[in-house]
Amino acid sequence: MVSTLPPLATLPFMIIHIDLDCYFASAERTVDPSLKGKPLAIANRDDTAIFGITPKKEVPFIETTGAFSGAMYYDKFGDADWRKYFVERNGRIRGMIVTASYEARKLGVKSVMGLGEALRICPTLQVRPARMSLYQTLSAKLFAFLQERIPVLEKASIDEFYGDVGGWIADHEVESFIQNLKMEVLEYFDLPLSIGASHTRTYAKIATTSAKPFGTRVLWPDDVSKAIDPMKIEAFPGIGRRMAAKLHGYGVKTIAQLKEMNHLLDGLGRPGKDIHRLIYGINDTTIQSFRQRKSIGIGRTFAPITDRAEYARRCVILAKHLAYTVARLEGKPTTYYFKVKYDTGNKNSHSLTIKRPFSEKLFKDMAMEELTKLDVYPTQAISYIGMSVSGLDSKKAVHSLFHHEEDRRYGKLQDASLQLRKKYGIDAISWGSERL
Ligand SMILES: [Mg+2]
Repeated sequence: MVSTLPPLATLPFMIIHIDLDCYFASAERTVDPSLKGKPLAIANRDDTAIFGITPKKEVPFIETTGAFSGAMYYDKFGDADWRKYFVERNGRIRGMIVTASYEARKLGVKSVMGLGEALRICPTLQVRPARMSLYQTLSAKLFAFLQERIPVLEKASIDEFYGDVGGWIADHEVESFIQNLKMEVLEYFDLPLSIGASHTRTYAKIATTSAKPFGTRVLWPDDVSKAIDPMKIEAFPGIGRRMAAKLHGYGVKTIAQLKEMNHLLDGLGRPGKDIHRLIYGINDTTIQSFRQRKSIGIGRTFAPITDRAEYARRCVILAKHLAYTVARLEGKPTTYYFKVKYDTGNKNSHSLTIKRPFSEKLFKDMAMEELTKLDVYPTQAISYIGMSVSGLDSKKAVHSLFHHEEDRRYGKLQDASLQLRKKYGIDAISWGSERL
């Protein structure tokens, strides 16, 4: 029997870009299929739960993103009770659309629109509060599933992935590969997505966008020009709003026009060089299969408060949440950043580097000290507290000669409370200063 070798890929790179369609809405539909086919919006509002005094069972741990803000919804309102979450006693609707289903988009509902306005435009709109923990978990499962099928895979965001199948899947099989992948994900996860493929990241992303929703498209080298030349510059991935405005100032509206005015980009420094590279498909193939997280932070905006005891209490609570996450990530941060904002528009921030092993006790004390110092307008109302840590990727353990014994004790306490919290939730251990 003559065995035939599989045909080899001729393009050195075949990048695929996978993008879930209206992901948060689709994720809610996997839990509640009655939402399918209906105009649906996922909305967020300021976090009312975090500073509450009822212990929170759910561990708001975010494994896969660095962004903490707005991601700590406690799953209390997962059902049709959404009005309780978004409508205040005086009837005022709080909240902003994060994701709209395609049915809702057709009726004019879009992301970053106020929930009140969305409901006026579309009174039959179904609404669910964003449940980040659900979306994170589902996204992580999908990533693991895709990893088994794509040799080099990068997670670009919670609902977007890049993979390189160059040299692995023959060029003429790419089309059927991405179609099958799309159907497989629908079958296993009940999640619709779109996939684009091309020989650079940017072209693959453009292919995906043009295939949405629930489509696939391969953009071959010969077809790239035809696809990108008529594009408006602001629609091209990698050209930001400010750059687009600048280029508009020179009368450039489309990619074709930009190509004719190459010298323009030359005069725009590094950003101009980058855009040149992306448009012509140069050096735009690197897939980072593992991206190390460098920093993580938490911040909350709330109705202004003047009571400094309440300010201190909120600082401790945020410090606790962040410290817990750092512990779960086994991070060894050495740089810390704190920020406070007032309802007058004043703000104050400070960053510092401390070479001591991280522990919640150390961090909480530091947060209290720093945020007290930062509060330089004691008569003004505070509306925001934020804090972050960085240097999480540092491999080196830090030791302090002067605090050795203290740090060792803090470390032991840290390990013990981490175990308890993994089991019983973040409020299983709390500091006295969290109480009113
Ligand atoms: Mg998406």
